[in-house]
Amino acid sequence: MSCLFCRIVAGEIPATIVHETKTTLAFRDIQPKAPVHVLLIPREHVPNAVDLDGEQLGDLFAAAREVADAEGVAESGYRLLFNTGPDSGQEVFHAHLHLLGGKRL
Ligand code: AMP
Repeated sequence: MSCLFCRIVAGEIPATIVHETKTTLAFRDIQPKAPVHVLLIPREHVPNAVDLDGEQLGDLFAAAREVADAEGVAESGYRLLFNTGPDSGQEVFHAHLHLLGGKRL
């Protein structure tokens, strides 16, 4: 298995998991760009955010809401973003939603 995030899903690579459901996993970014920086991924391998179906997107955004609550940024606000394709800076080709917060961005 060559996909880094599939290996995290499989438990082959350690990650600090903050939330999980049947379909999604959320873990801390290894190089955080903000005090709160969590990546939310579908357990299933989908290379790119635009390839996610509506149910997968809904699951990711529902999980993001739970993570924002748990991390204490729901009230102050936070940023959700997908990088899509090489020019965006996407480095890992397993779709992931960044949740950034904990400071004024
Ligand atoms: P992107 O540039 O949108 O593809 O984001 C990939 C993110 O994955 C970057 O913010 C990296 O810091 C993060 N990352 C890379 N390897 C790991 C890892 N093993 N555990 C957690 N986050 C990682």
